Amino acid sequence: MPVTLLCPSLRCRAVLQVPDTVRGKAVRCGHCGTVFSVPLTKQVVSRVEASRPSAEPEEKTV
Ligand SMILES: [Zn+2]
Repeated sequence: MPVTLLCPSLRCRAVLQVPDTVRGKAVRCGHCGTVFSVPLTKQVVSRVEASRPSAEPEEKTV
């Protein structure tokens, strides 16, 4: 059963279908060439984590 993944590259975000034999291994996106590892758990295409920079320092001037 193929696994459907979303390319982690925010500039690509191609939907990739890979065989489940590659779970836990690295695959390469055929669109952008990004190499990423396939999660071991079942993962359906869902919203990509919005890369929200949470490193916003709380500036409190006293
Ligand atoms: Zn890609």
